Amino acid sequence: MVKPIQQAAVIGSGVMGAAIAAHLAGAGISCLLLDIVPTQLTEDEKKAGLTLEHPKVRSKLAVTAIEKLKKTKPAPLYSEAFATRITPGNLEDDLHKLSKVDWIIEVVVERLDVKRQLLQRIEQVWTPGTIVSSNTSGISINEMVEPCGDAFKRHFLGTHFFNPPRYMKLLEVIPGQTTDPEIVKYMTLFGEKSLGKGVVSAKDTPNFIANRIGTYGLLVTLREMLEKGYTVEEIDAVTGPAMGRPKSATFRTLDLVGLDTFVHVAGNVYDNTTDESEKAIFDAPTVLRRMVELGWIGEKQGQGFYKKV
Ligand code: NAD
Repeated sequence: MVKPIQQAAVIGSGVMGAAIAAHLAGAGISCLLLDIVPTQLTEDEKKAGLTLEHPKVRSKLAVTAIEKLKKTKPAPLYSEAFATRITPGNLEDDLHKLSKVDWIIEVVVERLDVKRQLLQRIEQVWTPGTIVSSNTSGISINEMVEPCGDAFKRHFLGTHFFNPPRYMKLLEVIPGQTTDPEIVKYMTLFGEKSLGKGVVSAKDTPNFIANRIGTYGLLVTLREMLEKGYTVEEIDAVTGPAMGRPKSATFRTLDLVGLDTFVHVAGNVYDNTTDESEKAIFDAPTVLRRMVELGWIGEKQGQGFYKKV
C-alpha cells in the first residue's frame, strides 16, 4: 500500500538536493535534508572555536545549502515561511529518522558504488510503504538497487528532476523491472498534481531520455568548438539568447550542472555502450577532465568556464 507523501527526506545537499528540498518545501512538504558529516573544519569554524562535533558543523553541508538558497536570485526560490519546513542534518546522527518519512530521495554524487551503498544503508531503517527514489541523471535503476531485498525494490524507482528544479518543468519517472506499478502511478500523479511537473515515463536505459540527448548535444558542441577554434563566449552567444534560450547556453549550462557531475553522466553512456562511434562521442574530452582535476567544476565552486566575481 502506498503511503501518501506528507514528509520527505532528501539525501545529498549539493546543487540538486538542496534545490529539490526547497521545491518540496514550497509545495508544502516537510523535508529532512541530510548529507555526510564533514571531516575537516573550515578556517572560519576554527576561528569561531567550533569542533567537528558541533551540531552546526555536523550538518554543515545541509546548512550551507540552505544558506545558499537564501541568496539565490530571483528571491522566490527561498522564503522564510517554507524554509522552516526543511530540517538539515547528517546521515550518521539522523539515519533513523528516515523510518518516519513517506518518501526518501537519493541525490548524492553520480556514482553507482556510492548510490548502491547508500541505498543498502537506507534499507536498514526503511519502513514498508515508504517510496524511495533516485535523482540519478542516468545510472541504471535496476543496477542501483540490485543488492537490496524484494520489498525494498518494489518501492524503488527513478525520479529525475532537472536543474534548477523549481523552474524546470520536466520530471522523468523511471520504473525499474521490479517497481510496483501502483507506486509508478502514484509518483506520476504526485509529480503532476503536487509538484507541478510535466512527467515523462522513461525506460531504464543509460541516461534515460533527456540526458541521452542533452549530453550528446553538449559534447558535440564542445568538440566543434575545440576543432574549429571558437571561443566559449562565441558558442554561448549563438546557443543561448540568440536561439531564444536565454539561460541555457552551452557553457553556462555546463557550469550550472557541475563539470564533475557532467563527466560522470557522459561516462555512464560511454561505459554502457559497445558502439564505437557512440563511445567516441561520450568519452569526455581532456579539457573537461583537466578542469575537474583543477577543481574548476562550475558555479558550485565559483569557477568553471566562467568565474564568479
Ligand atoms: P553535488 O556534487 O552538487 O552534490 C552531491 C552531494 O552528495 C554533496 O553535498 C556530497 O557531500 C553528497 N554526498 C556524497 N556522497 C554521499 C554519501 N555517501 N551520502 C550522503 N551524501 C553524499 O551533485 P548534484 O549536482 O547535486 O548531483 C546529485 C545527483 O543529482 C547526481 O546523481 C546527479 O547526476 C543528479 N543530477 C544532477 C543535475 C545537475 O544539474 N547537477 C541535474 C539532474 C540530476
